[in-house]
Amino acid sequence: AHLARIEAVDEKVHAFLHIDREGALAQARAVDAKRAAGEPLGPLAGVPLAMKDIFTTEGVPTTVGSKILEGWIPPYDSTVTRKLKAADVVILGKTNMDEFAMGSSTENSAYGPTGNPWDLTRIPGGSGGGSAAALAAYEAPLALGTDTGGSIRQPAAVTGTVGVKPTYGGVSRYGMVAFSSSLDQGGPCARTVLDAALLHEAIGGHDPLDSTSIDAPVPPVVEAARSGDVRGMRIGVVKELGGEGYQPGVVQRFEESVEVLRGLGAEVVEISCPSFVYALAAYYLIAPSECSSNLARFDAMRYGLRVGDDGTKSAEEVTALTREAGFGPEVKRRIILGTYALSSGYYDAYYGSAQKVRTLITRDFEKAFEQVDVLVSPTTPTTAFPLGERVDDPLAMYLVDLCTIPVNLAGNAAMSLPCGLAPEDGLPVGLQIIAPALKDDRLYRVGAAVE
Ligand code: GLN
Repeated sequence: AHLARIEAVDEKVHAFLHIDREGALAQARAVDAKRAAGEPLGPLAGVPLAMKDIFTTEGVPTTVGSKILEGWIPPYDSTVTRKLKAADVVILGKTNMDEFAMGSSTENSAYGPTGNPWDLTRIPGGSGGGSAAALAAYEAPLALGTDTGGSIRQPAAVTGTVGVKPTYGGVSRYGMVAFSSSLDQGGPCARTVLDAALLHEAIGGHDPLDSTSIDAPVPPVVEAARSGDVRGMRIGVVKELGGEGYQPGVVQRFEESVEVLRGLGAEVVEISCPSFVYALAAYYLIAPSECSSNLARFDAMRYGLRVGDDGTKSAEEVTALTREAGFGPEVKRRIILGTYALSSGYYDAYYGSAQKVRTLITRDFEKAFEQVDVLVSPTTPTTAFPLGERVDDPLAMYLVDLCTIPVNLAGNAAMSLPCGLAPEDGLPVGLQIIAPALKDDRLYRVGAAVE
């Protein structure tokens, strides 16, 4: 049924880069056979899933939205892919994304943009716009994303779906193509809080193949999503995120959600996190710095595209020609920015300062969580804007992640879930909930309460 739905609508939505029809049907048949034989089934047996094209999938193309990996077929599965297969999930295909997860609208994909199913002339968010659009268009009930600065939560917000960035280290990064390794975090996307929790449980947990994986059990997310009891919980509204400059309908729906939580017995207080105003600046030094290093591996020798290899050129020339042809403008911008920020003489002023700001932001969170159990804010300053509106203005595009970026810098957990439609444009608004590291279950408890 989901493959038929994809066939009917994906020409317009363009959520998928690759539809693995044969693979999906084979997985589904294998589940049927197990069931018929009375063998034990995985926890998500037969449930279809759309996977962001950043997770490696053995035998199935993985492009990361880039021409530089066009035609590359990974010889191995990411840990997340492996866990999903073990849970008997049916993987429908790979979803569209901004190239190397750099962007907020999916317009930086080398394979063309994705439309927002609520209004196909608008952005589905990014970088995981394909996964969020697949959910909103009912092409899949579950999807996977990665969140370096908001790429799970912002697409969820603008498509009226649920997206969770787990605690850093809570879901393995093994086989997840790296953008900014100290910020990148894979996580679940779904249409309901409970669905997200069930997926979170299936993909989370310690992985010896990822050196930053946390050696602790997955927090009790499913139990929390089933409970939704917020009586006596302390909830902090972040003073610096929201209000002036935000779309009025976004602020209105956010404030209504806070009232709902108060009505359900939570105690609501205002919390100030003064360093958050520097988060965006710090992020756009740290993320490009790490990207400039991570993307050095795309050298035309190891993976994918190779340009100009006619027997007359040196390896260096082939590398340069391949990177020139294979990377898009935003990726090149970030590599240049990052290389500059890390260069001798500038390192302390740029990268060093950004790391200090990162520490200040972490301390703001620590102080806040001495007073409250979770923090809340709008997920994004506006609803989905028209495709094309910000493509020529990188700074305007960067502002989209104002509310989501502090969380990645500190490594905390956060969720975005729908909190109604903005009265002025009828488009979905996202509520962001933020919890301390390893307390991901609190997101689901609060999310289930307001859902
Ligand atoms: N929009 C942000 C960026 O362009 C975040 C992307 C992400 O989370 N992968 O870097």
